[in-house]
Amino acid sequence: MEPALLVCIIHINDCVVAVGVLAGLVIQYCLPFGPFSNKGPPMTKKYDALALLSGGLDSILAARTIMDQGLTVLGLHFVTPFFGNPELIPFWKEHYGIDAVAVDIQQKYVDMTLNPSQGYGKWLNPCIDCKITMLSHAMALLPEYGAKFLISGEVVGQRPMSQREDALNLITKRADVRNVLLRPLCAKKQPITPMEESGLVDREKLHDWYGRGRKEQYKLAEHYGFTEIPTPAGGCCLTESSGAARFVKLMSHRPVPTPNDFSLARSGRQYWNGDHWLIFGRTAPDNDKIESCIQPTDYVLKLVDFPGPLAVCRPLSGDWELDVIKDAAAFVASYAGKARKAYEETGELVKVTVLRGDSEEIVEVIPARETALPWLEPKPEIVREWKKEQLEADA
Ligand code: SF4
Repeated sequence: MEPALLVCIIHINDCVVAVGVLAGLVIQYCLPFGPFSNKGPPMTKKYDALALLSGGLDSILAARTIMDQGLTVLGLHFVTPFFGNPELIPFWKEHYGIDAVAVDIQQKYVDMTLNPSQGYGKWLNPCIDCKITMLSHAMALLPEYGAKFLISGEVVGQRPMSQREDALNLITKRADVRNVLLRPLCAKKQPITPMEESGLVDREKLHDWYGRGRKEQYKLAEHYGFTEIPTPAGGCCLTESSGAARFVKLMSHRPVPTPNDFSLARSGRQYWNGDHWLIFGRTAPDNDKIESCIQPTDYVLKLVDFPGPLAVCRPLSGDWELDVIKDAAAFVASYAGKARKAYEETGELVKVTVLRGDSEEIVEVIPARETALPWLEPKPEIVREWKKEQLEADA
């Protein structure tokens, strides 16, 4: 109720004053989102369709193809420890004209990645289960946005694992999206969908792409006048040998890692000595990413007098001995050029702060790449062996 209305009532009748004030208070404070309020919860904008939007070229073209028919599309940008760049959402709006929201599915995605029903691709990519997970999550979001169907940028035959005809059918079936999923880039190579049958979507304006070629994609991107052409997919480190090696190393020491563990495993430089896991930044953005992953039980190493990497020692099986922490600190300090140079010139030990929760102490070390304990990077060769062990364990 507006204050002006209350004042007006006061002038008419004292008896009505109480009722008016009370009603005003009730409306103002007890029914903040009621029909008389102009506050109300933010209305969720409605869309005709929700699109899986990795930020890869195909996902962008699929969304634009449907938008060209005058339908409204909201991109769902899934964020997991392995992929997701929500900071690019404003750029996608500005450059490609696509509305998008970030959708956090970290825990659900990690649970799936640890045991994908259809197994892994070449490295640690569970592509079929990945698509099932995202589509079924998107399906559950349809009512929230009033949307009638889903879009994904797959092209039959484009990728060996998840875009074979049989894989696409399996994904559709397992995600239970047969009646609501449209793949605009290869729709004319697919059976007609209810959206086309009903006339909601004009099948004639969809594409009939097939196979691994990229010519049609680039032609359409040029037609739209895109000056920034992203890679086909959105950048997924599960398909990379180095990423897979990092995650397998982690899983072989911690069978059920958390999303935070995986995010940390994706960051900066990674070194292991037994089950001692040491992570430190290569660049300032690496340091920021590592800092965002810090847990109260981590040992955090920072050089006191010199710029250098931020390092985290994450205990996986009990506290670390001081000797091991000092060894890690010496190794990390060797990646700080100014600290190394100062030691070489003066012979003075380099001070490193060790923070853990509320405790803090300073250790003094000689920067060294070869320390008493060997710190080794995970090698891609471990991935095949680990996958073999998993298969044997499941048999
Ligand atoms: S490449 Fe990565 S994001 Fe793409 S389907 Fe495979 S696992 Fe999912």
